[in-house]
Amino acid sequence: MNIAPTSVRTTHSSNAHLPTVRKLTRTVPVRLKERNKRRPLYVRLCPQIYEDRHSLPNGTKQHAACYTLESARAWCMSGVQVAFNFRYRGVHVDGETGVLSWPTCPFPVFCCPFVQSHIHSIVFRKRQSQFRPNMATEQLPETMQAVQVVEYNKPYQLNTVPVPHPSTLGPHDLLVKVAVASNCHTDSMVLSGVFASQTPSLPLTASHEGAGTVIATGLSVTTFAPGDRIMVGLPLHPCGACPDCRGPETHRQYCARVAGHVGVMVHGCFAHYVVCDARSSSLLPDKVSFASAAPLACAGRTIWRGIEQCGLKSGEWIALVGAGGGLGHLGVQFAKARGLEVVGIDARDEGVALAGEAGADVVVDARMGKEGVVERVKGVTGGRGVDAAVVISDAATATGLACAVTKMHGTVIQIAQPESVVVPFQELVFRDVRIRGSLVASPDESRRMLECVAEKGIKVKTNPFYGLDKIGELTELVHGGKIQGKAIIVVDQEQMEREKELGAKF
Ligand SMILES: [Zn+2]
Ligand SMILES: [Zn+2]
Repeated sequence: MNIAPTSVRTTHSSNAHLPTVRKLTRTVPVRLKERNKRRPLYVRLCPQIYEDRHSLPNGTKQHAACYTLESARAWCMSGVQVAFNFRYRGVHVDGETGVLSWPTCPFPVFCCPFVQSHIHSIVFRKRQSQFRPNMATEQLPETMQAVQVVEYNKPYQLNTVPVPHPSTLGPHDLLVKVAVASNCHTDSMVLSGVFASQTPSLPLTASHEGAGTVIATGLSVTTFAPGDRIMVGLPLHPCGACPDCRGPETHRQYCARVAGHVGVMVHGCFAHYVVCDARSSSLLPDKVSFASAAPLACAGRTIWRGIEQCGLKSGEWIALVGAGGGLGHLGVQFAKARGLEVVGIDARDEGVALAGEAGADVVVDARMGKEGVVERVKGVTGGRGVDAAVVISDAATATGLACAVTKMHGTVIQIAQPESVVVPFQELVFRDVRIRGSLVASPDESRRMLECVAEKGIKVKTNPFYGLDKIGELTELVHGGKIQGKAIIVVDQEQMEREKELGAKF
């Protein structure tokens, strides 16, 4: 990184180091490489960088590159707001961050060469808490109810917790009033501590599938405004600097330097309010209801991308292994909407029925055994097998079965998360079936999915419960194994009533 400061206006007698934030105003003009000029301005700020004088652009190449997570955390615990104005090619930009506090501090930041390439000069001031007054905060209650993981492998607790204050929002954050939140298979993994090592602390508010209305926005948010109906994004605080954040749009959800995923490692949607990231959230078309949008936030995004990754053309065959579940019944409809021929495979009475209801061209009961299933699928595909398959079921034999029904050199997309994926070597070695994993959809992919739901009238099968206090009944239904589709909690009935005026019918 080619950074050479031309001057530093400070009270210090030399510019051997930069000022700390204890001084109110500092100007740090820095001459930077003039590449990427055409890319949009994008600045993430971290006051920590200005605290440590030895790692600033001080004439050596040793600047803000090496901040550890722990040091950033310790400094940001206190909460600070940074006002900035910087000049880029003669244009002044003014702004200020929200109060930065762990884990909203975007610590990886100023060291990013992409950011540096844009900044000509910058002024920092430490400020007391202020935030853009874009809502009447006095309307916000101080506390809310939240369904929380308090201890791993113990039942959820319904707790009273503080409502996040808009002043604590990070630059890209949205404060959302939850209308509907739903339950996903991953919630049971969260409850059993699978993600414990990535979870900063308990209690943790559950549910990563939420939809609601934006109440307040962080200062850098331009894509959403208060009043917008949204589907909550899962990744919170992507770093904005890694190859996945800066590479192909379809890789955004893979940033490993996130603060966490909403409802998985950071507080989620089983509450009256949730904080999510504008960069991963999606605006709802008027026709799409909150009750559909919540399950679509994870289940929909996951199966949509799984099907896109198959890369099939209209008229080709796809098999969905686990076609009658929460993801599967959406997958059948998405695949039909793309003009694919669909084989729905399931091993439960409810699943077989729902796969058929959703519109699968052929429904196969996996309980007849692998050979029977393969024979049936070959029978309808001219003896070849399907062009691609998506594994939704986490049964131990599901991926092997998916490979077996897929044609030679075909593709299998794994979206289920069993502890290990087991495939007999014959399927891979002798039949050259390619297996790929796939995560939730990127923002663009999510937008395409929501457009499809609105245009084609995709129906999300839900089992609604009214009120967060019904979490016990919801859990019972889910664990009973007899559920068809998704279990959702209507958190705010009023928003559901209002959206009817918009024509939200799917
Ligand atoms: Zn990243
Ligand atoms: Zn999920």
